[in-house]
Amino acid sequence: MAAHAHGAEGIKRAIRAGVSSIEHGTLMDDECIELFKKYGTWYVPTITAGRSVADSAKIPGYYPAIIVPKAISIGSQLQATFGKAYKAGVKIAFGTDAAVYAHGKNWMEFLYMNEGGMPALEAIKCATVNAAELLGQSSQLGSIEKGKLADIVAVDGDPSKDIHVMGKMKFVMKDGKVYRNE
Ligand SMILES: [Zn+2]
Repeated sequence: MAAHAHGAEGIKRAIRAGVSSIEHGTLMDDECIELFKKYGTWYVPTITAGRSVADSAKIPGYYPAIIVPKAISIGSQLQATFGKAYKAGVKIAFGTDAAVYAHGKNWMEFLYMNEGGMPALEAIKCATVNAAELLGQSSQLGSIEKGKLADIVAVDGDPSKDIHVMGKMKFVMKDGKVYRNE
């Protein structure tokens, strides 16, 4: 069970009710962080969604006027919340809430996680090992091992030196079939 929650009270109720993950979590407070750790709940920050909503709100007419101030203030807080939760040791899995912005920007979550204080390889682990664990799919997904699905991607460069290479996907293997982008 996943709960898309921004407010602290909603986050606390969802964690206590036993959800597997909280998406967004924007307004989490210290008590929320303690609950995440106590219950072992995953946090899926979706920083890209927050930033995109804040950016869209600045385009005249994109949202109804009544939504605009909230979208700008809440959307832009998400990256700082992520940094705080990460430093506090909350378990984090990668997720983007894609569809609140154009597909193709999903990779930028790596960039924003890195900017928010998480080393690149840790962010990649959130998208692989951790995401598989959250979904209960660790026997098939998350790492390259014998017996798991042959789903592999390769980028053009070393993401630990430049996280932007995560946006330069050159090789995708899905179920053992190769798709090249050269
Ligand atoms: Zn959402």
